[in-house]
Amino acid sequence: MDRPLCIDGHTQLVGLLGYPVEHSLSPAMQNAAFAAAGLNWCYVPLPVAPVAVKEAVFGLPALGFRGANVTIPHKQVVMPYLDAVSEEAQAIGAANVLVFKDGRRLGYNVDGMGFLTALTSLGVRVRGLRALVLGAGGSARAVVYTLARNGAAVMLLNRTQERAESLVESLRPRLMDEPMGSSLLKSGPLTREVVAEVASGIDLVVNTTPLGMSPHEQGNPWPADVPFPRQAVAYDLIYAPRETSFLRLAKAAGAQTLNGLPMLVYQGAHSFELWTGQPAPVETMYAAVLEGSIQG
Ligand code: NAP
Repeated sequence: MDRPLCIDGHTQLVGLLGYPVEHSLSPAMQNAAFAAAGLNWCYVPLPVAPVAVKEAVFGLPALGFRGANVTIPHKQVVMPYLDAVSEEAQAIGAANVLVFKDGRRLGYNVDGMGFLTALTSLGVRVRGLRALVLGAGGSARAVVYTLARNGAAVMLLNRTQERAESLVESLRPRLMDEPMGSSLLKSGPLTREVVAEVASGIDLVVNTTPLGMSPHEQGNPWPADVPFPRQAVAYDLIYAPRETSFLRLAKAAGAQTLNGLPMLVYQGAHSFELWTGQPAPVETMYAAVLEGSIQG
């Protein structure tokens, strides 16, 4: 961002493995970070069709890449091609950061860390928190695991109830060494009745559904006639628009709100640190994402 990108024989490469990847804000964010840190590194989008994922994971280190981010639809698919994966990646069943080091392909998942850093940056203490998570897809898996791993009690509600149940059941064995263990997790259907029943005793509500995401900005997972608990923090993983209908409703009730931009930035910052071993220039990354999201 600050200086023209100059690629030479010393440039270290990382990239984004996904399909499609054209609209990602990560190249702008990571290249701004490398420039700010004075590193001769470059982050490139790598559109890889599903049939070529294995070749890509083996080919990138062969080409001298230092690592990669992995996004939809390859996060789960890359797992069998890795030599070792972190505890988070194992529990979540997906890797979104690859590090190529000493001839090994290492996998990490920093979605949960990004989610958590954004939350704790608000001053929220997670241990003992009573959290309601709406939606049970890929991002919910990282959110639920991270919350429970850090001592929050989680109620997971989803349109397809069986999916919420199976997510919770698959995570239970991973929480055996937590003081409250697997009792931290409950699941149910995402209905008006259930939300109304649990709302008053909740400290945090996380929207992990795409409801309210641009261009369908009128969507909202929170039932219109259930008062939002004003003592709770409303956290929407969506970052476009920056204020969703869900966050507007929570704000109108007097609740504190958080959108998905800080999570995006912090998962990028954790990726940067895994690749370079240096602290990430978070402010620069945030500014690059803000600029990219205005232009996009
Ligand atoms: P996903 O795997 O497709 O899961 C979507 C979930 O939303 C599913 O549980 C689905 O329910 C539910 N859902 C979808 N449409 C619904 C509707 N009309 N009514 C009720 N529930 C509905 O998606 P994901 O990868 O978890 O991503 C979810 C959101 O998080 C997206 O907006 C994404 O942009 C955002 N995200 C943000 C970040 C960040 O860094 N800020 C990171 C990851 C994801 P069923 O199971 O019933 O289909």
